[in-house]
Amino acid sequence: MPEKMSFSRIKAFWDCPTNYYILYIAGIKTPPTFPLINGSATHKCIQEMLSSPDPLNCSLTSGLKNAILKEAKGTDIKLDTENIYKCSTNAVKALYQRVPGLKIKEVENKFESFLSDGNNGWINKIKITGIIDCVVKGRDRGKGNPVYIMIDWKTTGNVSKAIVRYGMKMYRAQLALYKYFWSLESGIPVSEIKTSFGLIGLDRTMRWRDVRCSIDFLEGIMREVNRSLSIMPISDLPYYNKEFIKCNYCFSRSICMESKR
Ligand code: SF4
Repeated sequence: MPEKMSFSRIKAFWDCPTNYYILYIAGIKTPPTFPLINGSATHKCIQEMLSSPDPLNCSLTSGLKNAILKEAKGTDIKLDTENIYKCSTNAVKALYQRVPGLKIKEVENKFESFLSDGNNGWINKIKITGIIDCVVKGRDRGKGNPVYIMIDWKTTGNVSKAIVRYGMKMYRAQLALYKYFWSLESGIPVSEIKTSFGLIGLDRTMRWRDVRCSIDFLEGIMREVNRSLSIMPISDLPYYNKEFIKCNYCFSRSICMESKR
């Protein structure tokens, strides 16, 4: 078991332990896919825009183009820089419309921390790492009081389907955990941090998926993460083959089918 764990690894285990084994224990690499690379490139573009002096008026300079294209380096995936730029511009505009007068608190903040449970007895010694895409501070539209909003950008082919998907527990868990870690780091109580997925469609549509995570939900997720960390496989693939409940026919399927022969 590594000393550090990311949420993607934990989620891979929740999705399918066999896939987790293939990717992270056997270390068999699956080729990068267009959605993955396009998603990283869009994140990079938004990160560059939000870190610039005037996020709402960034043009597609050669520097920005190169930063986008760098995400596909070493692959044969072709990126549409113009579309990525337009999608990112829409996302940044939507953010400023949503939180007028916002102040950017974090962009691409990498955290690394232990789960800490007070005295509940489920503490784990493995560090969790992750990257918080963005945190902004602004005023609540309804009540006018100060509010922090943590955003995780997700690129998707179909925004309507993504709205449903990112309401699911497994996806909400990511923002719940990130909120917990950012609260520890910033000293802002979790009750004052709102969480949202910024869903960015390839067709340049943009929607918000607000995620509610109560303290109970947050604690339940941390307990589940802790339990998963303690049972993750080290070398026993056949055992984990029997464990999965639902097969999503993931990108590792050819390797998976091979191992069952
Ligand atoms: S093909 Fe199905 S069972 Fe095999 S690794 Fe992927 S999700 Fe798991």
